[in-house]
This record gives sequence, structure tokens and C-alpha cells, in this order.
Amino acid sequence: MIYNKFGKTGIEISALGFGSMRLPMVQDSDNNNHVDMDKAVAMMRHGFDLGINYVDSAYGYCASESEIAVGKALKGYRDKVYLSTKLPLGNIKATGDFDRHLTEQLTKLDVDYIDFYHFHGVSNERLENVILKYKLIDEALKAKSAGLIRHLSFSFHDKPEIMNKIIDLGVFSSVLCQYNLLDRTNEPAIAYAVEQGLGVVGMGPVGGGRLSYPSEFMQDLVEQNVSTPELALRFVISNPNIHCALSGMGNLQMVDENVKTASISEPLSSDELQGIDATLKQCQSLADIYCTGCGYCMPCPHEVNIPACFAALILKKVYKLDVAAVERYNTIKPVNQAAACVKCGACEKKCPQNIPITKRLKETTEIITRADRAV
Ligand code: SF4
Ligand code: SF4
Repeated sequence: MIYNKFGKTGIEISALGFGSMRLPMVQDSDNNNHVDMDKAVAMMRHGFDLGINYVDSAYGYCASESEIAVGKALKGYRDKVYLSTKLPLGNIKATGDFDRHLTEQLTKLDVDYIDFYHFHGVSNERLENVILKYKLIDEALKAKSAGLIRHLSFSFHDKPEIMNKIIDLGVFSSVLCQYNLLDRTNEPAIAYAVEQGLGVVGMGPVGGGRLSYPSEFMQDLVEQNVSTPELALRFVISNPNIHCALSGMGNLQMVDENVKTASISEPLSSDELQGIDATLKQCQSLADIYCTGCGYCMPCPHEVNIPACFAALILKKVYKLDVAAVERYNTIKPVNQAAACVKCGACEKKCPQNIPITKRLKETTEIITRADRAV
């Protein structure tokens, strides 16, 4: 396992972190989902034994049972593994809610302190209307003084320039943000975080599952014989500004494969990275010809989710990620899929890219249906 200096925390963090949002689940007789505790605990401990020293949870993950599972897995490992979890900002309606949640989380985790306590899903709106409004930074600093949390952190979901603004508050030790082969928009903000002494954990190294299936196109990006998920993880780990790639692992095979990848001390070469960079830039330009995702064409009077349909089309046509394209398309409710288009043409007048939307929607239906039959 590779270990990296984690900002100014004084910690050496494993290049692979255990994300506990996809733990194995079981259903009870009333069809309620629960974590399969025995399997989940064994899987996390297997990862810890292989050198993973950072585990990440959140209040609501896995039917709100992820923290319980993580707490159980940490028994006997507490001094070897750093524990990260998150305050659900969406639940905060008053200042006292901070303490209430932290107490509940410490109880669920069955620990005396949390190493990295994140504000979950920070955006500009939540910064202004929750964190600052309810003085959560003061609350967190009090919890830190009381020894209940060691570091204050945030997970991030907004435009990169907002990340800089949050970093400039000067109270955070680390940031958790999206970074993968298909989404590198946070790259400059990540570099700024490192410059300011924060540790950086990258989430979604396999693009939220989009890169977890084989793609000849992706594999051809480098000369070495690597699988698509391996390439995706190595790409993230090869960025010196990412100290830990957080992977939500759901079975032992995934743990073994990811640990193997995170133990390769040779990062992708600069030639390989440059080649990947050039190819992905071309892909992005090509994708923009299909749709930039700006949403100006919306709403469609017949409820077609145009940008979502085109996101699936792009995965298929540009990135050749057939399974991911079908999966993405199937996340769109049938009433919002391309087939609901009645060709009224209202959207085309609003598209700044002059995209022939009706023609492309027809193409989306045909191509995704064909891909669905093939996978
Ligand atoms: S052409 Fe189709 S997608 Fe566009 S607004 Fe009309 S129904 Fe909606
Ligand atoms: S307006 Fe054009 S580019 Fe923007 S989301 Fe709609 S189709 Fe895509």
C-alpha cells in the first residue's frame, strides 16, 4: 500500500480509502434494507489488514446503518485506522442540531472521538444558509476542543471556485471532492487546497461506477495491459495532489483488486498522463458537440429530460462505455426518457449549441436500446 502525507495533519494516509456507502445489504421480512453486518465488518477488516488506514462513512449511508457497521469493524483497529464521517447539513435546522447529531453519531460508531468530521455536501448555498447561519464552525471548534473530533473537514459539491472560498475560511484540515478520469473540473481547486495545507481525498475514482466496466477505448489510453477500473484508480492515485482515493467497495474481490492497484508504487508515466489528457480533451470537445449539459433547453413541455438523455448518449458514443450508458439511461424515469419526445421543436430554439435535439433523441432511443440488448 502506498501512503501519502495528508496535508498538514501529520498523518500518513493510505492511497486507497474505504468508502462505506456500498456495504452489502439484506432485506428483512418487511422489505426494509439493513447492512449485512457480518459480511460488511469482515470486508472492512480485510481492507484494514491489507493496509487501508482511512474509512469514511456518513450519517445517512446504507439506510443509516453504515456508521454502526464501521464502528463494529473498527473494534481492535481503532489505533490503526482513521475514522471519517459526516454531519448531514440537510438535517440542521437550529444550532443545537450539531451537538445532537454528533452525539448520535459517536453513539452509533461506539467511539469517543472522530478523526475527520465533515460537513456533508457543502455548496455555496449550504455554506451561507446552514453552516454560517447556525454558526456550525463555532460548534465544531468547541467539539474539537472537547476532544470529540480531531479534524474539521468538508465534502464538496459545487463549482470549483466555491471550494477556494470554503478553504479560505481557514478552519478545515481536509476536503473530500469528486475527481476521476471523466470529471476533472475540481483539479485547480484541488491544487489550491494542497497549497493551503489541506489533505485531499478524491471521491468517485471510478466515476460513480461508470468506469467499473471494461471499455476498450479507456484501456487503449495506456500501453500497459490494465483493466478500466484499474486505469481509473491509477489515474487518480497518480495525481500527487490527491492523497487518498476513496472507493465505495461492496465485495472482497473489489477490495483485493483496489488494494493491488493502490500498492503499485510506479505512478502512470508523464507520457501516459499527457496521452490521457490529450485524448480526454478531444473527448470533451466531442461530447460538447452532443450536449454541454447547460440545461437551457429545459423544461420540455412533455417532460423529456434532454440533458440526462444526452449524458447517456455521450457515454455510449464518445467514451464507448456501453454498460455505463445503459445504466445512466435507466436512472431516468421512463416518462422523462427520449421516447416521450413529440418533436414539437420548442427545445431546439433555446439550445445555444444548435443541437438537432429531436434527431439526437431518436438516436439515443435506438442506440441505448441496442446497447441494452447487447449487455
Ligand atoms: S422537441 Fe421533444 S424534447 Fe424538445 S421540447 Fe418538444 S417534446 Fe420536448
Ligand atoms: S440546451 Fe443544448 S447543450 Fe444545453 S442541455 Fe439542452 S441540448 Fe444540451
